[in-house]
Amino acid sequence: MRASNLYAPTLRETPAEAEVISHQLMLRAGMIRKAAGGIYTYLPLAWRVLKKIEDIIREEMDAKGGQELLMPIVQPAEIWKETGRWDVYGDEMFRLKDRHQRDFCLGPTHEEMITTLVRDEVRSYRQLPLLLYQIQNKYRDEIRPRFGLMRGREFIMKDLYSFDRDEEGLNESYNKMYDAYTRVFTRCGLTFRPVEADSGAIGGSGSHEFMVLAESGEAAIVYCTTCDYAANVEKAELKPIHAMEEERLAMEIVETPGRKTIGDVTAFLGISPEKTVKTLAYQTEKGLVLALVRGDHEVNEIKLKNELNCLQLELASEAAVIGALGCEPGFIGPVGVKDITIVADATVMNLFNVVCGANKVDKHYRNVNPGRDFTATKVADIRLIQENDPCPRCGASVKTARGIEVGQVFKLYTKYSNALGATYLDENGQERPIVMGCYGIGVTRTMAAAIEQNHDENGIIWPVPIAPFQVVVIPVNAKEEAQMSLAEEVYTELNKAGVEAILDDRNERPGVKFKDADLIGYPLRVTIGPKALSEGRVEVKVRRTGEIIYFDKANYVSEVQ
Ligand code: ATP
Ligand code: MG
Ligand code: MG
Ligand code: MG
Repeated sequence: MRASNLYAPTLRETPAEAEVISHQLMLRAGMIRKAAGGIYTYLPLAWRVLKKIEDIIREEMDAKGGQELLMPIVQPAEIWKETGRWDVYGDEMFRLKDRHQRDFCLGPTHEEMITTLVRDEVRSYRQLPLLLYQIQNKYRDEIRPRFGLMRGREFIMKDLYSFDRDEEGLNESYNKMYDAYTRVFTRCGLTFRPVEADSGAIGGSGSHEFMVLAESGEAAIVYCTTCDYAANVEKAELKPIHAMEEERLAMEIVETPGRKTIGDVTAFLGISPEKTVKTLAYQTEKGLVLALVRGDHEVNEIKLKNELNCLQLELASEAAVIGALGCEPGFIGPVGVKDITIVADATVMNLFNVVCGANKVDKHYRNVNPGRDFTATKVADIRLIQENDPCPRCGASVKTARGIEVGQVFKLYTKYSNALGATYLDENGQERPIVMGCYGIGVTRTMAAAIEQNHDENGIIWPVPIAPFQVVVIPVNAKEEAQMSLAEEVYTELNKAGVEAILDDRNERPGVKFKDADLIGYPLRVTIGPKALSEGRVEVKVRRTGEIIYFDKANYVSEVQ
């Protein structure tokens, strides 16, 4: 590739709309351009990086027995209705109708699609296990698309789904993927940490998130320096919710049309009758806020927005917030269905009477019997784990850090196979539900995370395995024939030797070329100037360290390699 042909319109100024460094640098380096909020074109340099990340992912998925396929982006509503997620997914789902007014969505994820595929084809235990994956655009109408590729509305994800006969098989698939993810992010040259992404019930955690460590990360993580405990703070060791012993009897859900706030909730503690509710507690400057949230997928959508001095819950569904504590009447109210702002007020913290509300928009619980339907627990016991708290595993003190979630592995068990009737016949001819897992990597987010972790004031510093080109060859003066022909030679030799080199043959001042080279972040820069010609040696600058090395013209190729 010659820089004169490369479509990489670099910018000198940092665009005002870009808050985080990866967004700024990708715009400045001519890697991405915005089409709409959270929707971007990947220009040639970015596309090269993305393809490299994808190839690393492919190799590691294939090495574990994964098989690549490609599912449709446009998905029929029917399969989502079968699992009930058409109604609970909420506004994050891009929905559309065809000319016959049939409902479709743009896939935010593909559990429904792949489970129905497997349901229709897999009959026998002999066809299992299966690891199927794709690398594809995903669509999520995020409430706040921001930070460039970090939180897009259209983004590239690798999603793999595992299908096993039993839990033992699932654990095996899960461990394979955990290992593959570790290899993927290591190969991408990233500093990362796998963290437990749920409260880790008996038998180990059912999910891990892979966090790239970076100050700009949206996620807070906690880890132990003594043992291997590491968890997403929002999901770490919240004090347990008391399980409800008795069946719910007189509790009923009543229609309360028009009441979209949960402002009459003064205090609420416990676990829902379905036992699927989790408690999330946040210490904010204004006091303690406690929110009870359904314990499945929707839990992922909760974010603590420190900068706003209040808690904002980005909820996947209307049904997600069951109640809240530490809030005075009127302080809770959905701004949009998915965006409920809770401002805490410590004065109500002494209220322990259980009041239920807002389990669904327009619906409230009635006839709740505290102690029977919900078990009260002490508020003071419920708060997020913090720096220097004792490690839940070994008792040593924990540390906190910030991270970017680049991947997640998740044991689904039979949630989708039960809902969609994906079964197989075992050795004894008995019908059993397929046991599933799902495993996602944000490809575009990984590229952004790599920049968050690898940059300086001059630009990007690509880790070699994912660099768009490994070497840039710069003739100081492209008009000088001798320099240009040596540069050509070096460029050709490098490419022949399998080193991806780009030749900056533009008629620009050397300063401009050097600045662009630093901005785009090629790991090595080979400068061909008068010295190189007269002294027969090649000047190589290492982008990361700034170190300048001189190689003999005769053996620079092997040295660069
Ligand atoms: P987040 O907590 O950041 O909203 P998520 O938990 O909703 O992410 P998953 O459903 O676990 O995301 O999807 C798998 C991976 O896809 C994530 O680990 C992340 O790397 C990536 N991803 C999710 N949402 C986005 C997005 N809006 N833009 C870019 N990448 C994303
Ligand atoms: Mg998440
Ligand atoms: Mg999300
Ligand atoms: Mg996730």
